[in-house]
Amino acid sequence: MTTLTREYFVELDCQDVLADYRDQFDLPEGHIYLNGNSLGVLPKAAKARAREVVEQEWGQGLIRSWNSADWIHLPRRVGDKIAGLIGAAPGEVVVADSTSVNLFKLASAAVKLRPGRGKILSEPGNFPTDLYILQGLEKFHDGRVRLNTVHRDEILDAIDEDTALVVLTHVHYKSGAMFDMKAITNRAHEKGALVLWDLSHSTGAVPVALNEVDADFAIGCGYKYLNGGPGAPGFLFVAQRHQAQLQQPLSGWFGHANSFAMRDDYEPAPGIERTLCGTTPVIGASLLEVGVDIMASADMQQIREKSLKMGELFIELVGQRLDEYGFGLASSKDPAVRGSQVSLTHEQGFAIMQALIARNIIGDFRAPDILRFGFTPLYVRYVDLWDCIEALAEIMASGEWDKPGFRKLTAVT
Ligand SMILES: *Cc1c(COP(=O)(O)O)cnc(C)c1O
Repeated sequence: MTTLTREYFVELDCQDVLADYRDQFDLPEGHIYLNGNSLGVLPKAAKARAREVVEQEWGQGLIRSWNSADWIHLPRRVGDKIAGLIGAAPGEVVVADSTSVNLFKLASAAVKLRPGRGKILSEPGNFPTDLYILQGLEKFHDGRVRLNTVHRDEILDAIDEDTALVVLTHVHYKSGAMFDMKAITNRAHEKGALVLWDLSHSTGAVPVALNEVDADFAIGCGYKYLNGGPGAPGFLFVAQRHQAQLQQPLSGWFGHANSFAMRDDYEPAPGIERTLCGTTPVIGASLLEVGVDIMASADMQQIREKSLKMGELFIELVGQRLDEYGFGLASSKDPAVRGSQVSLTHEQGFAIMQALIARNIIGDFRAPDILRFGFTPLYVRYVDLWDCIEALAEIMASGEWDKPGFRKLTAVT
């Protein structure tokens, strides 16, 4: 294996077909941001759009903007754009609520589509909110549906005739491990079960082809790889074939067939809009649209290629520069089953990450011992990876991580 040099990384940036996208983002000077998997960065255009939504559409247009600025169609308009990023058709995706709430709506609806089956299947160590929401659903049904978690390698075999729904996160938030969406969806359908995919770490990060794999349901996040801004609304997907029968429990007025008829009785909208509940978070959805537009203008294959190259180089650098410091690799070396992140393990992971962040190199820490580095090819440069590892090597060699200030736990890690 040849020794890598900083010059090589600079050269890769010169040849990078995605390099110009970086200019569309407002990254603070002197920062290396490897946390776009948790909160994406601010698109420059979002600043202008925020002013416009607040000052013009809200400030001047007031209530008229529901029509004149087309606020009423935001869930569907932005949803159709996201559909293009995940291999879904127009009319199968809406932007609404949070990922957690969308999971509750769709998991409840899915279980109703499989009466008589008592099992929801997931994996231990799935993203906490996914398990918590499913535990809530279990309680809500007084145990008539049970959540059963089995190790990811045993999921295929655990899907049986009693399984109503399989709920999995496509790319694992900690390790970046990626499920074979097609294999699991096929097995579930063979057994008569449905599948709900959480795409929070997939959308905008890896190619997803929901209709190609015959997916049933999906949910995902707006503020991670889509760069929608803090607390941006989430999205949900319901395959066309399930929409007419779908009954979701949060039957609010935005999901009504005719919201402004103001009738006493609920009648679900004919299509995907029946998954809506209440008033759209207009400002958040408008800013999300800016991030989605940038993502939609980029080539997902090129994004994936750069992301994989980054992952491979990062792992190689860890081997070359950090070998003696006790780091482990929590992500697979096989790029085919890895999302757009590489996670390392270290006993002192929290303090080490704090020392890195103090140098404006931002990744994050996930308990108990995971240091996460997310690769967002539209604004991260190859040379950033070199500089990150260089800084880590310095932090370890000098013992810089061992300052008392870096050991103090913060409310959000
Ligand atoms: C980030 C994330 C969520 C977030 O859910 P919210 O309701 O937006 O807080 C859910 N699931 C997964 C897998 C995530 O990574």
